Amino acid sequence: MTVHHLNCATMHPVGSFGGRVAPAAMVAHCLLVERAGGLLLVDTGFGTADVADPKRLGQPFRAIVRPELRQSETALAQVQALGYDAADVTDIALTHLDLDHVGGLADFPHARVHVFTDELEAALHPTFQEKARYLPVQRAHGPDWVRHDVPGDTWFGFDSVSALADDVLLIPLQGHTRGHCGVAVRRAEGGWLLHAGDSYFHSSEKLTPPAPPVGLRVFQVLMGVDNKRRRANQERLRELHRSHSEDVTIFCAHDGDEFAALSG
Ligand SMILES: [Zn+2]
Repeated sequence: MTVHHLNCATMHPVGSFGGRVAPAAMVAHCLLVERAGGLLLVDTGFGTADVADPKRLGQPFRAIVRPELRQSETALAQVQALGYDAADVTDIALTHLDLDHVGGLADFPHARVHVFTDELEAALHPTFQEKARYLPVQRAHGPDWVRHDVPGDTWFGFDSVSALADDVLLIPLQGHTRGHCGVAVRRAEGGWLLHAGDSYFHSSEKLTPPAPPVGLRVFQVLMGVDNKRRRANQERLRELHRSHSEDVTIFCAHDGDEFAALSG
């Protein structure tokens, strides 16, 4: 089982002040996993339709996050560059349904899309506050949703639910969004990768004390739907990193240093 680390969007948040307030560049860290039954994508970044029509992402988002939107960075282009076809992607597991994570869904219309039920409900029935983050246009093709519900298993002390067999698990990590989760992928060489999505934004947040740039700290509070729960889950991730770093490699969606270390 080979795992490829893909960056499916490069973003330049406004007001970074040379990296002092926020990172000068952020990535959208996705995984492409070669499994016996087909290819699995974990998150999708922006897709070809977002690149063709950036306006659909909304002016406020583009003004604050400033995505580059290059066709070559789409998951589809990178899947094809590895010699595969879109139809080879049989499954997609999503950390959550924010617009910078699901833009590529329509490029893989035949894939089963694994999502935590609470998150799909949030996207389908958003509150006024949630409306801007979930774009119906990105799922207008009608994804083949596979809902995963209240977990029955545990994984390193976290709740977990199997998405695919015993090697792809959803780990509920709510707070950033209603049904946000991590995606744990078993590595062929032993141990696990944990894609922690947007449960934290900066590699230092795995350490004690966390020291993210102030802009990222504020951004996370503004974007969180339940900041108490978000902070508690971040603390649990720190504990996991402290006690099990040899068994579990944790990374988040948007940290460029973590992406460089794992993709290099
Ligand atoms: Zn994100």
